[in-house]
Amino acid sequence: MENADAQYAQAKLAQLKGEYKVEVLADWGAGDREWQPGKWTKAELDKLHNSIVLLANNMGGNEKFVRNIGGVTVKKADIGTHGGEALAHQVSFSTKASFSPWTVVHEFAHSWDANYGWGLSRLLEKYTGGYTNPLLSYAKRLAGLSDSGFLNPENKPGRYGRRPGCNRAGYFYGDRPSGSNWSFNRVEDFAESVAMYVGWGRNNDLSQHAQNRIIRYQLKNGEKDSFNVIDNWLDYAPRFYPDNGDYTKTKRWQFVDDLVNGRIAP
Ligand SMILES: [Zn+2]
Repeated sequence: MENADAQYAQAKLAQLKGEYKVEVLADWGAGDREWQPGKWTKAELDKLHNSIVLLANNMGGNEKFVRNIGGVTVKKADIGTHGGEALAHQVSFSTKASFSPWTVVHEFAHSWDANYGWGLSRLLEKYTGGYTNPLLSYAKRLAGLSDSGFLNPENKPGRYGRRPGCNRAGYFYGDRPSGSNWSFNRVEDFAESVAMYVGWGRNNDLSQHAQNRIIRYQLKNGEKDSFNVIDNWLDYAPRFYPDNGDYTKTKRWQFVDDLVNGRIAP
């Protein structure tokens, strides 16, 4: 944060706290001798705010957002290779690189789930017809039925561990998620489903990303998607590509729609 933007930043922080109970831990300010810029930029504060507004609008407004998330502290931290992480009332973004609007909504969805004892992702799992069974996952890999290595994914097309149960958690997802890999589990499924819901067909900061998640299954095997991944997309299309390419026809979209409209009680 530049010294010149300090006043703007302070107003933004007050707004986030007042309207959304989101408290950004400011790491900038006047030091003993000179200005300490910290890790945040003005553009990132705007991105955070805009993404929170998108999520809140999909929840039905800022009061619903506050009720769902229950107040959260946001900070930049050294959290290794991933872009963000979240617990109840706590979201962290990496200091290594900037975050995307998608990451903001994804991490706040985790925090929402955590605020309900990770029960929302269990509801999603059930609603979509999935289940978690590490033993069955092990058996599937033993029988050579997985699209991964035995204990790890392989870094080549058709071996990233995208089939149901072919992941670290033994998560057998139901219906059609927008994607899956070795790290997939019901918690990640919930966060991705919320981000897909916020972005899909709405012409906002998440919409292109959401569309890219789906249209890659129209690629041929061996082609590269917009996330720079080469895979056998055609082979995976029956598991992930929704009817007529319309993500609103999936159980995940319906679940989040039911949840934000109060048809599902957490
Ligand atoms: Zn996540």
